[in-house]
Amino acid sequence: MKYYIGIDLGGTNIVAGIVNEQFELIAKASEKTNAGRPAQEIAKTMADTAKAAVHAAGLELSQITSAGIGTPGIVDNEKREVIFASNLYFHNVPLGQMVEDELHIPVFVANDADTAAYGEFMAGAGKMEDGHHISNMLAITLGTGVGSGIIINSKIYNGYGFAGGEFGHTVIHLGGRQCACGRKGCLETYCSATGLITTTKEHMRRNPDSLMWKLCGGDIDKVDGRTSFDAAAQGDAAGKAVVEEYTSALGESIVNAINTLQPEIVCIGGGVSKQGENLLRPIRTYMDSYCFDRFAKNRTEIRIAQLGNDAGVIGAALIGLQQD
Ligand SMILES: [Zn+2]
Repeated sequence: MKYYIGIDLGGTNIVAGIVNEQFELIAKASEKTNAGRPAQEIAKTMADTAKAAVHAAGLELSQITSAGIGTPGIVDNEKREVIFASNLYFHNVPLGQMVEDELHIPVFVANDADTAAYGEFMAGAGKMEDGHHISNMLAITLGTGVGSGIIINSKIYNGYGFAGGEFGHTVIHLGGRQCACGRKGCLETYCSATGLITTTKEHMRRNPDSLMWKLCGGDIDKVDGRTSFDAAAQGDAAGKAVVEEYTSALGESIVNAINTLQPEIVCIGGGVSKQGENLLRPIRTYMDSYCFDRFAKNRTEIRIAQLGNDAGVIGAALIGLQQD
């Protein structure tokens, strides 16, 4: 049996896991990141967390084939360097080599949205019921922001300068909401959970009688990503309008992506994806109405992500398996 270490480096926590050759996560360990420390110290904590996961799996480091790291920021996958990660204060950090010097096994590095996408591709939504393997997938995470990862020909695709695959920063409303990236009207400002909450609040202020007020106890600061979907499910007109606005923005964006890439699978993860079919049903209507592939025999399928927060660790563990 082969085993791989996956390390998910976040702004708050470092999670390490052991994945076997059936792509199952068999043990985990975690530590605080304490961002702001020198990169060398964070790399040491990452290696220690990895060793703790190896121990928790009842294994020795000598039994591990390789390790992979998922990190925020722009990553040079070949040099195994983090070019820039604002929340970790990393600038040209040779993170792969630093962790390799501690673990003495090959260490691969990728962006965390890419490792999460690769995890779903290998072990989650990308696994087909009939056992055949797909080659192309777009994974979209609807969380605090909108993350995305593109798999083409079974490999992570992130562009000429490792700065591509940023689906969340494609504009869907010209002159729309201000995005942190500098543009106005990015998908992220409408379709992240944060964007959904903004839209919910806008509709609540215009509709003082909406059920959404009752659902958040009359306190608009208690609105979350579920408020509008819950109200819509109970027939509230303003709630339905929020859901309609949200799913139309997401539906149009996903049609944009399918018309550009036409992968086998579009995988939707993150907090908002917990709405399941209530989210997918309206998006499928957009796909059926507007995707060019509605005239094709082979059509893109949309699915909910299956691995939850483990996608990043599993994907990181497996990035060394990408075929050239
Ligand atoms: Zn943006």
